[in-house]
Amino acid sequence: MFKLLAKSWEHKCNRCGLCCHEKVIIGDEVLLDMNTHCEHYDPKTHSCKIYIERLTLHRRCRKITPFHAMFARYLPDECAYVQWARSRHLRFALKRRIRFVQGDRGDSLSDGEALFGTQS
Ligand code: SF4
Ligand code: SF4
Repeated sequence: MFKLLAKSWEHKCNRCGLCCHEKVIIGDEVLLDMNTHCEHYDPKTHSCKIYIERLTLHRRCRKITPFHAMFARYLPDECAYVQWARSRHLRFALKRRIRFVQGDRGDSLSDGEALFGTQS
């Protein structure tokens, strides 16, 4: 039963890959750099190349838990776990504006600004 629940939780991820991009939090904004990502992220397939072993092979990688879904402010609205929490009125994180930078999703930063910090 526990295994089934864990599997169903894992399958909620829609593989958008947004949490695998470099990010920095500044005040009420999360800047997601769409040109820079974790070394294990494959931008062509939007997937993790070491998914099963990611938590042991990549020490900065984090498993998304219901707690993250409810409270993590760095997760974008596109995240399936955020949507899961929101659909159950369990999303308590203060809203942060997400800015996509240096990619094809919109905003851009000035040259030379560095972003860092992958997490999933
Ligand atoms: S942040 Fe984690 S899930 Fe994303 S590509 Fe890296 S190891 Fe994989
Ligand atoms: S942001 Fe959420 S839905 Fe997208 S890859 Fe990360 S955990 Fe999965």
